[in-house]
Formats: sequence, C-alpha cells, structure tokens
Amino acid sequence: MKTEFSPAQLANPDIAEADKILRACVHCGFCTATCPTYVLLGDELDSPRGRIYLIKEMLEKDRPPTKEVVKHIDRCLSCLACMTTCPSGVNYMHLVDQARVRIERDYRRPLAERLLRAVLALVLPQPALFRASMILARLGRPLIGLLPAPKETSKEATASPTLLRRIRAMLALAPASLPASGPGGGSVFPAIGERRGRVALLQGCAQQVLAPRINQAAISLLTRHGIEVVLVKDEQCCGALTHHLGRDDAALAFARANIAAWLAEAERGGLDAILVTTSGCGTVIKDYGFMLREEADFAAAATKVSALAKDITEYVSGIDLKPAQQRGDIVVAYHAACSLQHGQKITQAPKELLSKNGFVVKDVPESHLCCGSAGTYNILQPDIANKLRDRKVANIAMVKPDMIAAGNIGCMVQIAGGTSVPVVHTIELLDWATGGPRPGLN
Ligand code: SF4
Ligand code: SF4
Repeated sequence: MKTEFSPAQLANPDIAEADKILRACVHCGFCTATCPTYVLLGDELDSPRGRIYLIKEMLEKDRPPTKEVVKHIDRCLSCLACMTTCPSGVNYMHLVDQARVRIERDYRRPLAERLLRAVLALVLPQPALFRASMILARLGRPLIGLLPAPKETSKEATASPTLLRRIRAMLALAPASLPASGPGGGSVFPAIGERRGRVALLQGCAQQVLAPRINQAAISLLTRHGIEVVLVKDEQCCGALTHHLGRDDAALAFARANIAAWLAEAERGGLDAILVTTSGCGTVIKDYGFMLREEADFAAAATKVSALAKDITEYVSGIDLKPAQQRGDIVVAYHAACSLQHGQKITQAPKELLSKNGFVVKDVPESHLCCGSAGTYNILQPDIANKLRDRKVANIAMVKPDMIAAGNIGCMVQIAGGTSVPVVHTIELLDWATGGPRPGLN
C-alpha cells in the first residue's frame, strides 16, 4: 500500500512503524474471510482491510479520529485472526494498538462511555477492587431483567450499544459465587524431590479472583515435576486491559513495574521462565520488548522479560510429564484462545499435551473465530460478543464434548455463559492426568 507520510511525520518512531506496516499490505483482502466482525456484519469497514484504510487516513492526514473511525476500530476484537491469515505479514496488532492510543488521546467519547472505560481501567487491574465489584455485580444481578436485552439481528448490532446494555453485560458476567483467594505475591512453592528448574508464575488480575484453581493446578503440576514456583512480590497487572483500552501510559507503567520486579527476582533466585496461564496476558508480556523499544532505561530489560515469558503449555511441553493416568473416555473440545493461536502462534502444544496424557481431543469447527470475550469487548460490545459466543458454543456442541479446555480465563467465562458443559483450563486437565484433583467439580 502506497503511503504519503511527510519526513517530519516519519521522524516519529510510531509513525515510521505504522508506515512500515501499511506498506506491507497489498490490499488482497484474504484477511476479511477470517475476521469475525466482517463475517458477522459484512461491512468492509468492519474488516481488517477496511480498518487499515481508516487508520492510514487518520495517521497520514494527522487528523482527529471521527465518530465513524472510532466505531469501526472499537468493533475490532484485536483477535489477530487477520495476522494469521495475511500472506504479507502485516502486523495489524501494532497498527490497531497505535490507533487505539490515538483515539484515546484525541477523541472525546460521550460522558457515560468515558466513565465506564475509566471504571474498567481502574477496577480490572486491581484484584481487590475487582473482587469488590464482582460482589456488587452479584447483588445487582436481579436487575438484569429490567435492563435492555442484547440486539438479536446483525443489523441491529451495528448500533453503538447503550450504557444500560453494557451494564447488563457486566452483570451477566458476574459469577454466582467467588472462590476463596489463592496465595499472594511473595509465596514460594518448592520443588518436590530434586529441583530441576525455577519459574515465576504470573498471578493475573481477574483470574486470581474468578479462578485461583488454575494457578493452583499449575503450581501442583510444576512442583510435582521438580520445578520451584515463585509468585513474585510487587508484580502488577500485565497491562493488557489498559493497553487494549488505548491507555498506554497506564499499560507501560505496569510493564515497567513488572520488569523491575521479575528481573529483581531473577537476580535473587534465578528464573528459567515467567509462566503465564492467561494467554491474553502472555501475548502482551511477549510484546513488552516492542512496547518499550524507545525507552533507553527499559528496552533491553523488556526484551529479556519478553524472551523469558512462556505460556504454561509451551513450558510444560519441555517437561517429561509423569506417566498419565489414562482418561480415554473423556472427550475434550479444545477451544483455541485467539491470543494463544493468533497472538502467540501456539496451536499444537496444548492439544498434543492433552492427547498424550490420555484425553480424546476434538478440534472445534471454525476454531479460528473469536468467542467474543476479547478483554473488555464483551462488556463494551455485548451484541457482537453474544453472537460470537453463541456461534462458538454451537460449534463446540457439534463435537459433543464432556469438557471444554481453554488457555485463557476470558474465553472460559465467556463460553461458560452459553453452555452447561464444564469449561476448564488446559493445565487443570494436565494436572489431573498427572495426579491432581479432577477439575470442573468446584
Ligand atoms: S483483529 Fe480480529 S476483529 Fe480485528 S480486524 Fe483482525 S480479524 Fe478482524
Ligand atoms: S491479508 Fe494482509 S495484505 Fe491482504 S488486505 Fe489483509 S492485511 Fe492487507
């Protein structure tokens, strides 16, 4: 794609990066076929190619985002299916990230939406606040019937959702009860038997409130296989949620704090890896090197941290798991989280681990399509998110599973909202197969 940035514009490293990305796009449109919003809404401006044009216009003309541009960028899930499909290697992720920052900086949203986004950016990264908000949301659940229902047709879904529909979506996501908190930062779980490695395990924000059992399963499996696990003190939110809201100052502050905390821990006790059980977080931590590339004080450290970051299945694939207890009668539908399959290009490891450990693993039809969770997307765009969830659940039902496995808490909550089949994390099944408790019963 031809671009016309001025030399002055290109002196800005972000614009120079955008220019490089835009020039790689050859307008072929292959990406439209796998873009969930294009598949649902059928509007070119809700496809990757359409959004690329909108972003190009906005950046090149250096003009404030229009309402129309914001509408179509907001509808993007950042699922990155387009990056998997693109034959030209267009880095859509870095382009849309830049567009979101520009929108946050230069576009004045309606007051109600500004407030909602501010609340999400404040509450979600802080487990104590998130826990309190979940308790409040649970109390508010009886009000759901009084709030406007999701729109039923794709045409209606093109309207911007109202605040009340978004509040309804938030209440619907609140669980009926919350489990007790897991261990906090600073905890160390020694290897059982001879120590063969030492890792940090990201504690996560929403996950540690909604499903502490996931990291408990990871700790149990790892320590049983000779890996010491540390929950690093002073670790913070990875920054993914604020990053996707376009609040890069907040996201970068989280990144810097984490880099300092993890590298201090590596210095103290050694770290072979920083393990992540929430693939949405893993994708962003693996991008810290890029996000902080222009900061002399942090660039090298950020690259080091990104290299240490591993999805739990990536790391566990390198361990000789103790002989599995055969689970040949359990059919598992593997839901490939977008952040894992498109963001981190980890497609086979989770499935291979599950089948090697005795589960009957089934691929889900249309597995490239997002379930609609996408960070805060299911709150901010509930109509599209609900349609994607229903489509995902219908596809999962086709393989008649006993359980659904996924590697991202956001997907797990989203899918669980549309099915009675237990939704568990891949690591919970692996822990079970190697001597841990059966998941899906608590
Ligand atoms: S990230 Fe997903 S929703 Fe956004 S343009 Fe790409 S495929 Fe479409
Ligand atoms: S597939 Fe890649 S090159 Fe083709 S239009 Fe989409 S982003 Fe551009």
